[in-house]
Amino acid sequence: MKVVVIGGGASGLIAAITLKEMGTDVTLIERNPKLGRKILATGNGRCNFMNVDATEYQYNHPYFVKPVFEQMSPEKTLHYFENLGITARIEDLGKTYPFSEQASSIVDVLVFEIERLGVHVIFDAKVVDLKKNQDFEITLENGEVLHADKVILATGGKAMPRSGSDGLGYTLAESFGHTLTTLFPALTKLELNSPHLKQMDGVKIQGTVELLHYGNTLQVEQGDVLFTKYGISGPTILQISRKANELLSQDQEAEIKVILVEHLDRRELSKRFQVLEHKTAYFSLIGLVHKKLILPLLSDANIHPESLLKDVPKPQMNRLIHLLYDWRFKVTGSKDFDDAQVTAGGINIQDVNPQTLESKLVAGLFFCGEILDIDGICGGYNLQWAWSSGYVAAKFASRK
Ligand SMILES: Cc1cc2nc3c(=O)[nH]c(=O)nc-3n(C[C@H](O)[C@H](O)[C@H](O)COP(=O)(O)OP(=O)(O)OC[C@H]3O[C@@H](n4cnc5c(N)ncnc54)[C@H](O)[C@@H]3O)c2cc1C
Repeated sequence: MKVVVIGGGASGLIAAITLKEMGTDVTLIERNPKLGRKILATGNGRCNFMNVDATEYQYNHPYFVKPVFEQMSPEKTLHYFENLGITARIEDLGKTYPFSEQASSIVDVLVFEIERLGVHVIFDAKVVDLKKNQDFEITLENGEVLHADKVILATGGKAMPRSGSDGLGYTLAESFGHTLTTLFPALTKLELNSPHLKQMDGVKIQGTVELLHYGNTLQVEQGDVLFTKYGISGPTILQISRKANELLSQDQEAEIKVILVEHLDRRELSKRFQVLEHKTAYFSLIGLVHKKLILPLLSDANIHPESLLKDVPKPQMNRLIHLLYDWRFKVTGSKDFDDAQVTAGGINIQDVNPQTLESKLVAGLFFCGEILDIDGICGGYNLQWAWSSGYVAAKFASRK
């Protein structure tokens, strides 16, 4: 029996290794001249390669993820990589990195394994067509046709298309009748509607941000927030971006609320302003918030920066205090797939068996990784899904 794995990224690499270990004749096809290109860019070059606490995927289909993790849990993944030579460094919230802090370590050990086992790899080979007659016919861009009894589609999603995952895999699956759920970029930067963005560009604060939907809080994140000339970024925003973009894709309203002085008691703040009442409004905010935020805040509170604090009418003063705890910005969009870490949406999992990851429409066709309608939060959840699902797809594809 011959199995072809299309895509030499995270999920395809583990799938090809697993198949070969199980004694299957496997060919791995990758359009790039090298394997695992996207992995090199992960975790800011450190590769947050898994998450020891990853069991729940809050965004989509917990019932689909569960049987996959029962077969290849985070614990098993950790041992798998330890056996390959990766000593893990586990950080906050279960985020797991190679001790070397180099994403290339993950690629190195996987490629070493591919070579050690003698997996047949075809590089620089873009699959442009996939059919099934007697067996699978896999057509490459150069016109060459390969045959296989089973195929694993591990072509990724649409995020970071320059790494090779440009969504072509979806087209291959659609040619068999598989459907896609709505695709949108996730774990990305958000664009905001504010006249002050240029002024605030580059300001990084430690704060709390909330995602609001018609005034109701949907998600709260704490940590670094970065204002940019187009909107807002930072780890907190990446986490929020998934839900924000989902709302926008449904033409719903999404707002970001920034809390600048969360741990400051309102009475203490009022006292501060009383003490400074003979100073200007501008001066009264120095030492409290980043200087580049002072003029935007005063503008939104409708306070002239040179007004003495004692002369600022009460409603404006109340508005300023309110803004320090609740500064809202309308989300107008996000950066596109070029900047996103993951694709939300993908192959509709209704047509895929969650135990085996085999297509319910075409016998012998398997899926793994980001191509499926599964995506996780920042923190190693997406690579964890790639390893676990790649392993499971291979386990069942190797069965006669
Ligand atoms: C900048 C960035 C940082 C990230 N950081 C993290 C992180 O720290 N932790 C984490 O868990 N996740 C992270 N992710 C997400 C994670 O990298 C992906 O979810 C994961 O790589 C998906 O694995 P995959 O195997 O499904 O797809 P990919 O890794 O995208 O691999 C797909 C492969 O298929 C090949 N291919 C595609 N189409 C064809 C075709 N037609 N013919 C032949 N070959 C084809 C591509 O060239 C590619 O090599 C990050 C993503 C990005 C973009």
